[in-house]
Amino acid sequence: MYVIETDKLTKVYGDIIAVDHIDLKVKKNRIFGFLGPNGAGKTTTVLMLLGLIQPTEGRAYVNNIDVQEKPIEVKKISGYLPSENGLYPNMSALDNLLFFAKFYKIPRNEAKKIALDLLDLVGLKEVAKKKVGEFSTGMKQRLALAQALINDPEILFLDEPTSGLDPKGAVEIRQLIKDLRKEGKTIFLTSHILPEVDEVCDSIGIIVNGKLVAMGSKEELKRAFLNEKVRILVEIEESLPDLSEFATDIKLFTKNKAMIYAKADIRKELFEYLNSNGYTVLDLHLMEPTLEEIFLKMAYGEEPVLEKITEGER
Ligand code: ATP
Repeated sequence: MYVIETDKLTKVYGDIIAVDHIDLKVKKNRIFGFLGPNGAGKTTTVLMLLGLIQPTEGRAYVNNIDVQEKPIEVKKISGYLPSENGLYPNMSALDNLLFFAKFYKIPRNEAKKIALDLLDLVGLKEVAKKKVGEFSTGMKQRLALAQALINDPEILFLDEPTSGLDPKGAVEIRQLIKDLRKEGKTIFLTSHILPEVDEVCDSIGIIVNGKLVAMGSKEELKRAFLNEKVRILVEIEESLPDLSEFATDIKLFTKNKAMIYAKADIRKELFEYLNSNGYTVLDLHLMEPTLEEIFLKMAYGEEPVLEKITEGER
């Protein structure tokens, strides 16, 4: 079952097609990474999924609820961390959360307990009474995440949750995101940071110029990409023999080490050939595409830059 599903979801602003007939599918209890260059349509999509803006065309369903028909129902089960947090700097962390809890009509006593638990979760309990204006960027972002969790949502929408954070702050937020998935939540995360998406997400959608150009689990995307061009690193003890019959292209690094491009995974055939001709194979491994390569190919049509990938191998 899909927790988030869209059917030709589209948003047009004047002559800009911000989101162009996208069909998204996100399974329950997944961390879905929504990747795209600047202006690709990520935030517009999130706003439509939350019922905060109306689509021009198409439908969006969150937990099988039609967002346009029942936006309030969707808001009840969703949490949203916008790219710019809406915290009040002159209020304490606790008061910010209590203020936000009012929108969900959570009774004050209950709200206080929930808020303190959330402050504990994001490591801010000690500074619950401190004004948010005095917080570091990382602390503010953790508080904003707590705010997004005030209604104990089933689905969390996080718009670039680590942008502007230092490495420590980013690591803390990523850990919190992973912990929330363990609690059973579904997380829809937009990001530009490819290693972050690679680390925390299990499935990925790539949006370019409003169009969804790829979607699937990380493994599916890598496999689809691999099928286009397989790369195998070969290293043998002796000088390399002529391998042209196996490869569509070969890049020689040293006299006994090369990258072979092929149309399929031919490791077995290569190994048998080398072995039966008396060569000692030191290494023979498939080079997996990185998410960065997949993204660059999908978004800009760029072929992988081999030098970068093999630097450490030389
Ligand atoms: P970024 O990564 O830079 O935040 P994004 O992928 O979130 O970008 P959106 O903010 O969804 O992209 O914008 C998609 C397109 O729609 C852009 O061309 C943007 O200029 C346009 N756009 C977004 N909101 C509006 C609006 N309210 N009025 C007019 N155009 C808009």
